[in-house]
Parts: sequence; structure tokens; C-alpha cells
Amino acid sequence: MTSPDTPILAALHPRLPSPLQEVVDGRFERWGVRLLLKRDDLIHPELIGNKWRKLAPNLTAAAGRTVVTFGGSWSNHLRATAAAGRLLGIPTVGVVRGDELAGRPLNPSLARCTADGMRLHFVDRATYRRKSKPPVLAGILRAADAEEAYVVPEGGSNAEAVRGCRALGAELRGHAEAVAVACGTGGTLAGLASGLAPGQSALGVPVLRGGFLTAETEALQRAAFGGRRGTWSLDDRFHFGGYARVPAELDTFAADFEQLHGLPVERLYVAKLLYGLVTLAGEGAFPRGTAVAAVVTGRPFS
Ligand SMILES: *Cc1c(COP(=O)(O)O)cnc(C)c1O
Repeated sequence: MTSPDTPILAALHPRLPSPLQEVVDGRFERWGVRLLLKRDDLIHPELIGNKWRKLAPNLTAAAGRTVVTFGGSWSNHLRATAAAGRLLGIPTVGVVRGDELAGRPLNPSLARCTADGMRLHFVDRATYRRKSKPPVLAGILRAADAEEAYVVPEGGSNAEAVRGCRALGAELRGHAEAVAVACGTGGTLAGLASGLAPGQSALGVPVLRGGFLTAETEALQRAAFGGRRGTWSLDDRFHFGGYARVPAELDTFAADFEQLHGLPVERLYVAKLLYGLVTLAGEGAFPRGTAVAAVVTGRPFS
């Protein structure tokens, strides 16, 4: 298992373990439940949150080779990879979903990636969807002139990344009965759950529609640890229509949480997690006298 504290990354001075803060929120307090925020958004100003935990072991494994990875045009993972490349002097290539974007001005997220030195390669959506098939991947790498590169999958979730997130669970041992995290690929949940102590459970809140995440998370745990680890479950009710959907009700909820607790609330993942936890508390899902830790996996892009 690769430690995230390898010398090259330690030079970036990550704030680890990340801070754990208790907040007083009437929506939990009235049920006798304590709310803790696990501030992974404070690990590093540019390599934020779970992106640090997932990228760190992969950057070590890349051993200086070019790193190629995949994402949509607003991907937090692409931005984190690009930033890591600049900070560590590692060349990066980003394969972006949607070849119609190629001739157009870059959106602010992709502009940040290129400013950080990432070379972008746009791929049509049909090809992008099939990128995990070896011949398709080989074709993409050839076209991107990145055949020798170290490949990190979309969203950054592979066995290395999942093992990197184990430390997140370990840092929360003894602090809360339930730990909750927003899920894209399920990689963070897979690692987190494996690092918790017996008696603690992890709850994942998927931000994509589809109900496929139990199988994906199990597959990631199998790849990383050889089988299912820890106690975890998913609640599929809080995706708000799917990835990057932020209806007014969610936006208002997040703005209100920011006002109440003085913390920037990232809308695509963290807002859905917090909304889900408030709903669950209101349903009496958490026993009186218990503590719930919400993992703040990122912060708004600016
Ligand atoms: C990428 C990301 C996630 C999703 O993590 P997975 O390991 O893919 O489930 C959650 N929150 C934020 C803020 C992210 O950027």
C-alpha cells in the first residue's frame, strides 16, 4: 500500500489529519444528534479534499511519468490533477468528454486546467463512454499522444485511490457513530468504510441517478481489498435529478447552511450530502445521543 505521505507529496504540506469541527444546528440538536464536519476541503488549497486522498497514491505510483486522466468539462478531478501536475512538475493530459468542445473557448474550469499546464484532448461522447474497454483506451491514448503515460481512471477511482481513502475512515475512528459522504464513483466511500472501526457505519449519498453505485462500490472494494469491507449503505434519494443538477431548493438550502455555519458549500456534491443528512435527521434515522460526521469533500470552484 502506498502511503500518501511520500516525500514528494509531503513537500506540499497537506493538512492531515484534516480538521474535525462540531457545529450546532437545531435540525440535529432537537433530535439529540451531534453534527460534525470533517473538513477535507482544508487539506490543501489546490488539491482539495478527497481528490488529494485519491490522487496522492496515484502520483506516487506514476513515478514521474506523464499522468493521463478523464473527465467532463467541469470535472473537479481534472482540475485537481492539473494542479498536482503543476505543483509537482509532472506533465498531465486531460481527456475531456465531448469533441464539440474542441473548437470553442474553454470554460473557466478547463481554462484553469490548461493554465496549470494540462494538455487537453477532446473525445466524442460515444468513444468516451467506451473508454474502459482496452482497445478503445489504447486508441484514445494513441490519438492523445500519451501511450507511455500512467492512466488514472475517470473520477480518479482505482484500487490505489480507494486505499488512499482508507485514512479518511481511520481519522474518524472514535469520533462518530455514522459517517456520511457524497458519492460520484463511490471510491471515497469504498476506502472510508474500510478504515472505520467496528460499530461505525458509513452512508453514501449518490449525486448521480441510476442506482448502480452499490455494485460499483463493491467492485472498488474488491479491487482494493479483495472483498467487501466495513459497514456501509447508500441512500439514493438526494441526487436532485442527476449530476450537476442544482435546483433552486438545493441552492437555497446550501446558501442558508453557508450563512448559518460560515462554511462554503460546494453545490454538486456537498450540498446534496448535507440536504440528505438534514432530511434523515428529521426522519429520526439517527439514534439520540449519537454523532454524525459529514465529510466536506470539496469547496466551490472559484
Ligand atoms: C469528486 C468528488 C466527490 C466524489 O468522490 P467519489 O470518490 O468519486 O465518489 C465528492 N465530493 C466532491 C466535492 C468531489 O469533488
